[in-house]
Order: sequence, then structure tokens, then C-alpha cells
Amino acid sequence: MSDLVERDRRVVWHPYASPDAGPESSPLFPVESAEGVRIRLEDGRELIDGMSSWWSAIHGYRHPRIEAALKEQIERMPHLMFGGLTHEPAVSLCERLVEIAPPGLERVFLSDSGSVAVEVAIKMALQVWQARNQPARQRLLTLRGGYHGDTFGAMAVCDPVTGMHSLFEGSLPKHLFAPRPECRFDEACDDAEIAPFADLLFAHRDEIAAVILEPIVQGAGGMWFYSPEYLRRVRTLCDEADVLLIADEIATGFGRSGPLFACEHAQISPDILCVGKALTGGTMTLAATLATGGVCQAISEGDPGVFMHGPTFMGNPLACAAAGASLDLLEETDWATSVASIGAQLETELDLCRRLPAVADVRVLGAIGVIELHEPVDMGVVQPAFVDRGVWIRPFGRLVYTMPPYITEPDDVSRICSVMHDVVSTL
Ligand code: PMP
Repeated sequence: MSDLVERDRRVVWHPYASPDAGPESSPLFPVESAEGVRIRLEDGRELIDGMSSWWSAIHGYRHPRIEAALKEQIERMPHLMFGGLTHEPAVSLCERLVEIAPPGLERVFLSDSGSVAVEVAIKMALQVWQARNQPARQRLLTLRGGYHGDTFGAMAVCDPVTGMHSLFEGSLPKHLFAPRPECRFDEACDDAEIAPFADLLFAHRDEIAAVILEPIVQGAGGMWFYSPEYLRRVRTLCDEADVLLIADEIATGFGRSGPLFACEHAQISPDILCVGKALTGGTMTLAATLATGGVCQAISEGDPGVFMHGPTFMGNPLACAAAGASLDLLEETDWATSVASIGAQLETELDLCRRLPAVADVRVLGAIGVIELHEPVDMGVVQPAFVDRGVWIRPFGRLVYTMPPYITEPDDVSRICSVMHDVVSTL
């Protein structure tokens, strides 16, 4: 075992891991560096990155433009409190987010991670109804199969089964869950499909503050893509019921599903939008919650007239500078064509996996390719199998999936697909 892994195993806790899990069930790979779409292990092996570090590293690692922006900013001011002070990297980032976000989102609250951006969105919705003298509106309506983060407010709207509800049952607020939309991305959504959602919405409208959902792509709750028509109908129903709509685009934001934001598939705007992950091109931890003028005005006119949140590292200048450089890259490159061609390649090359006995479904949207299996994978076997074949894929449960950086060349996408096929064919 490498010295680093040995030291790690003594003191470090990894995500969703037992500190005492041995290498058989929870293998760990020491990394020396990462550049472009390659992750270099301590032993000199190189892996093609198929994960973009959980949706974030869309431009690959160590992009010179983002590094230059970080270096420049570090010499000026790596951090500064945001209460009562402001700075160029934060202001220009917020201006640009408002410009590129779906129409109507006018105000940006910066925070430090996706889960916190979701907490902020939920608190905004609750404060709106406090301010509008409807304090009973405290519940959220969401979809089964969703994932919104691991903090308490966010966890309470994750799928009740795959999320951690049973573990924390006594401590979580009880929200409302509509069935997962079964209409696929390219299918219509008829009245029967949306009826359970509509019924819940209207039966509980006096206690619902907001609907929260991941538009079009449900990520960590099941990697499921649903019909834009479903989302359009949700928007219309929220308007009819006078309920706010929160779109969690932490995974989908900045092009991953095809358009810049997944809401664009349905041509809708939410009242509140959460982004994170790829916001800084995966270099720094930063998230943002955008709100309409109406949301902002309601909170300002209510009591106490301010929004009650303020993280220490809010608007961190280094993170904002990285985000600015990442947005420059999105503006200057033809990322949409790259996403579309990665998607077309995933579609063709993963299609072969449909014939494998372990496979239940294969689906692709934007630069996201998903193989759903009949049974959960054994990570102790599957993870080293990918690494031995030179590809970094991190499955979970019954899902083996890839969302490579947008700069991934066709040969590398092919290698990712063939290794996914190879590994899944052994199951
Ligand atoms: N919402 C969605 C849709 C996500 O995919 C994630 C992260 N997987 C989160 C929220 C939480 O973000 P973070 O891990 O940065 O707290």
C-alpha cells in the first residue's frame, strides 16, 4: 500500500465511506496531479477522466486561463469578508450570471457549496411567504428520485428512499413527494403523467412555499432524464397555484445537458435558481442562488426586511475570479458543439452495452452517458477494474455513468465507452 494511502486510512474520512472500510470494499487511489483530461496516479499511471470531478471540471484540469486568473487574484486579495465590502470579481460575476441565466432572475446570492445554495433557496422561499403574511407556507413539494445535497434542508427534499430519510427521520421536516416523472426526455407528458403532481400541489397549496426540482436531469438520485413538457407543465401549475419554483441546476448548469441551463429545454424560468459545481470550472468551491426581482422585493418588504444568511466565505474573490475565467471560456469556445459531439459519440458507442445481460437501460443526454444495471455494483471489484483499464469512472449503486470534460477528444471518449462496455460485460 502506498504511504499516502496508509496515512489517509489512519485519519481521513471520505465521502459516504466508513473510516474502517478496508481496501477490499473501498479502494483508494493516490493522485499525483491532474492536467487536461488526465489524472496522474502516484505510481505513474494515467487515467482518462470520465467524471469531471462530479460534474465540475468542464474545461479539464489546470486550464491556463483559469490558473492565470487565480494567480492574478491571489496577489491582489485571496479573501475578504463580504459584509459591508465588495470587489470587482464578485460584482462582475453576478452581473454575468444575471445576463446568462433564464430571464427574470435579477439578484444573486453567493455561497460556498451546492448544498448551501439549496439551503439559501429554501430560506428565500420561506421568507417570501413570511413577508406575504402566509407563514403557514413552509413545506416544499418535490419529485421522487431527486438529489439536492447533504445538509438538513437539502436532505429533506432528496429522494426519501435513496436519500437518508430513515436515518435522520426524526430531524427532517416532512415535505411532499410527487412520483418521479416517467415520461422520458424525448416523450410527451400527458395529463395522467402530471396528475399526481398537480393533485398534491392543489391539495396542499396553502402550506407549500415552493416546488423544488432538478430540471430535466435528475442526478445523484438516479441519473434520470425526463420530458421538457413535464417541466413546462410544472411551471404553469406553480403559476396557477401561486407557488414558487426553485430549479436546482447545480449539476446541469453551464452546458452539461446541452443548453447552458437545463430549464432552456422547456423554455421556462424558475423563481429561484441554484448553480454550483461547474461555476468555477471545478477549481474552487463556489455556488450561487439567483432570485427574481419579485422574490427579492417581497423579502425586502417583509420583516426583518433582510435575507437572513451570510457565510464567512461568501463571494470569495479567488473563487469568483476562477468563475469569471470559466465563463470567459464558455463565451469564447464552441462548448455547445463539443457537448453535442460528445453526446452523439456516447449515444452510438454506449448503445452496444444494451445487449449485455447486466444492463437494464442506457440513456444519453448532452454530455452525460448512463448505463443502468439490474443489480448494484461491487465497488471493491468495479473501481479497480476501471483504473486498471486507464479510465476514471465512479459508479454508484446500479448506475455506471460518465460526464467527461467538454474538451475530451473523440479518441478519449471512445476509450471511456469501450472501457465501460468491457467492465460492465464482466458483471
Ligand atoms: N444539487 C444537485 C443537483 C447536486 O448534484 C449536488 C451535488 N451532487 C448538490 C445539490 C449538492 O452540491 P454540493 O455537493 O456542492 O453541496
